[in-house]
Amino acid sequence: MRTSQRVAIRVRVDPVACDAYGYCAELLPERVTLDEWGYPIVDGTPVGADLVDLATRAAAACPRRALLLERV
Ligand code: SF4
Repeated sequence: MRTSQRVAIRVRVDPVACDAYGYCAELLPERVTLDEWGYPIVDGTPVGADLVDLATRAAAACPRRALLLERV
C-alpha cells in the first residue's frame, strides 16, 4: 500500500506584522497583489510546485516576517 501524502503550500499574511513594504507582491505576483494602501491581498489557492521556490523567496524577503507559508 502506498502511504505517501500530497502536501500543498498556501501563502498567508499576518496582518498585524505586515507593514506594507510590498516586496511580496513584487516577488510573488501570482498570489499577491496590493490594495490601494499597499497592503497585500493574498490568493489562498495552494501554491503549485512551480511556485514553491518563489513563495519561499518572498517569505524570506519580507522585512516583517509577515508572509507565511502554511502546509495544507
Ligand atoms: S513584504 Fe511583508 S511587510 Fe511587505 S507587504 Fe508583504 S507581507 Fe507585508
